[in-house]
Amino acid sequence: MSRFWSAGVADLTPYVPGEQPQMQRLIKLNTNENPYGPSPRVLAAIRDALGSDAEALKLYPDPDARRFKQAIATRFGLEVANVHVGNGSDEVLANVFQGLLKHDKPILYPDITYSFYPVYCGLYGVAFETVPLSDTFEIRAEDYRKPNGGIIFPNPNAPTGRAIALGEIERVLTDNAGSVVVIDEAYIDFGGETAAGLIAKYPNLLVVQTLSKSRSLAGLRLGFAIGHPDLIEALERVKNSFNSYPLDRLAQAAGVAAIEDEVYFEQTRQAVIASREALVERMTALGFEVLPSKANFVFARHPAHDAAQLAAALRERAIIVRHFKNARVAQFLRITVGTDAECETFTDALKEILAG
Ligand SMILES: *Cc1c(COP(=O)(O)O)cnc(C)c1O
Repeated sequence: MSRFWSAGVADLTPYVPGEQPQMQRLIKLNTNENPYGPSPRVLAAIRDALGSDAEALKLYPDPDARRFKQAIATRFGLEVANVHVGNGSDEVLANVFQGLLKHDKPILYPDITYSFYPVYCGLYGVAFETVPLSDTFEIRAEDYRKPNGGIIFPNPNAPTGRAIALGEIERVLTDNAGSVVVIDEAYIDFGGETAAGLIAKYPNLLVVQTLSKSRSLAGLRLGFAIGHPDLIEALERVKNSFNSYPLDRLAQAAGVAAIEDEVYFEQTRQAVIASREALVERMTALGFEVLPSKANFVFARHPAHDAAQLAAALRERAIIVRHFKNARVAQFLRITVGTDAECETFTDALKEILAG
């Protein structure tokens, strides 16, 4: 706290990211990174964009990231005018909160969800109301049938991993034709059904995705939103009032290559899905209750072991997982799906810990 701070800074509650230890030899299952690394075409594209003497870096990048937007538009059968891109989907979401969700009525999002949403509400002065998940931790369309200034939730939800069906999303869209409905699809490629195909039908739908998880580019910071051009225009206005160049040259080139390499994408996401199913089976055998997951993580609790203690015992064995303090889920752990070998080391450690 200092007298030099602008008004309001002291009242902000910044997001606390999962721990990012910059050391090796840890089994890192705490922030939902992809264990496989990006497509080899990404490295080739970065080298190509850099050139042999890095001369390209003296020039500003394309402020509109047109090639990257075009690659996304092509993949989803849309136009460039349907696409907004940003420095990770966190930045895209920030633009969404500022540009599309600030109205008189409060926005709605689940009580258990991505903990960045309340942070953006605090930063941009967006009123919100939380909607409890069902007893089985599901988002239910009917619970969003009340006056609101917008709706946002992840599908699959985080940190539960539970997905809702496209039919339910359509109900939310038709029940709330006067509000923007934002579906945060950070984990959609691990088994959920994307709402991207509904964009032509619903001008109030915005779909947000990231290249951090299924494309394994968390370190490059690439995310995007797709929706009706009127929604995209608001996001572009906000972005261009803040930073003309949020995506550097290397990131833009890498983003195109990552989106275009469908074969690698398909292989790695299927590998993660297969590892998840094996992990769920082994954890269930150890007595865990594991919520049905369509994400690259699982959310689980053990009826006889405290979650914080389990997390601490895992850490002693150099394995880190995520534990949230929110009372409703304080007995759960969120575990990122690693390679099969990492998952096995994890369940072997659990077996030892449970045996006490
Ligand atoms: C990981 C995540 C994001 C943001 O990812 P970026 O790395 O900023 O693209 C957004 N929403 C949810 C629900 C996430 O889990």
